Amino acid sequence: MNELLQEDPEPPLSSDLSSIEVVLETTASQVQLFKKNDIPTSDFSVINPRADEFRTTFFPQATEKQWNSWRWQIQNSYASFKKLSEFLDIRNIDNFDFLIKSRKLPLRITPYYASLLYKKPSDYALIKSVVPNRLELVISPGEENDPLHEESMCPVGNLVHRYPDRALLLSTGFCSVYCRYCTRSHMVLKDKKHYGVKAWETAIDYIRNNTQIRDVIISGGDPLTMPDKHIEFLLSSLRAIPHVEMIRLGTKVPMVLPQRITKKLVRMLKKYHPFYMSIHATHPDEITPEVIEACKRIADAGIPMGSQTVLLKGVNDTVETMKELMHKLLKVRIRPYYIYQCDPIPGSSHFRTPVKKGLEIIQGLRGFTSGYAVPHYVIDAPGGGGKIPLLPEYYQGREGDNIVLKNFEDKTFQYFDPF
Ligand code: SF4
Repeated sequence: MNELLQEDPEPPLSSDLSSIEVVLETTASQVQLFKKNDIPTSDFSVINPRADEFRTTFFPQATEKQWNSWRWQIQNSYASFKKLSEFLDIRNIDNFDFLIKSRKLPLRITPYYASLLYKKPSDYALIKSVVPNRLELVISPGEENDPLHEESMCPVGNLVHRYPDRALLLSTGFCSVYCRYCTRSHMVLKDKKHYGVKAWETAIDYIRNNTQIRDVIISGGDPLTMPDKHIEFLLSSLRAIPHVEMIRLGTKVPMVLPQRITKKLVRMLKKYHPFYMSIHATHPDEITPEVIEACKRIADAGIPMGSQTVLLKGVNDTVETMKELMHKLLKVRIRPYYIYQCDPIPGSSHFRTPVKKGLEIIQGLRGFTSGYAVPHYVIDAPGGGGKIPLLPEYYQGREGDNIVLKNFEDKTFQYFDPF
């Protein structure tokens, strides 16, 4: 086993969770991720005024240091409707009795992210994206548990090999916040366990034995909910494979649990360059002083960041909202990368927009803002066809030796192209 894991796992990771125990599985034994009274101090110290008001109102016993500890944030997550009702009038949102019984995607919201929802109307974009809704019980045609058929592309457990030169390593089924539209909802349903070294070793062996894999994406669940030591186990194991040229990590943590981005974490991550992060961002209101600090730390460590945003009805489906999001992302040095059409997981039809809405948004960005602010709009093809980019019709066809093009102002131009 990698020597990193033979040491005592960094600070013994701690404490009983209010509603659900989080367990880290290792080959040796099951190790509690959280132990009582073990909330290490954090080097994160940014608390915006709204979050601070929320802390003093709903967690009056929590010190600033505790609030700034990512472990404290996970330990004190909102994971029950009862707790959520302490600050959200959930009766006005919907009838939750159905959802409690339905055993759908779990509920989990960090106190930090909850502070963004505080005193907001029930149709607020971020409430829609993370608070369960009765509409999740409506199953529409074409929806399925694993719409991308990732499970059929797993040659070994926890590894998706869809494209020849890339592999997706599914490191955990745990997230600090569950998005109601999650493509991997079939994976994160248990809200319980990191998969552990044993499962990772099989996936790492597969990558080691397949020399065409040059790019590995560590995803989940959210890998940044794991302790540093275990993230480093994965990174060092992958970096030791000569044909793995680049490593990427997909996460929403900088947006929902920015306190996780400690200086210690980024010092460790930057040892494994070329290392990239794909950051799941949903709405411009997510870009708070805490997120600005987290992204500054990541960018200052030389880690390039690209964004992934799911297009969601009533959440971010206007040109204005998307443009503001893309501008704010660029300001924190995240390059807008993908807007995804919402995948057809069961109970997601209330989130899906017509494809023409996505095209309209791209048309409203291209030419009207910096090219850097324009992501690719893609549909991840159901059944495992991969990402297919969609573009407004700038190419209008051919007239003799010319091609006919339409620009962002809807003006037509001809380009001589006799070939
Ligand atoms: S962070 Fe990612 S994996 Fe976790 S619930 Fe959201 S979309 Fe799913």
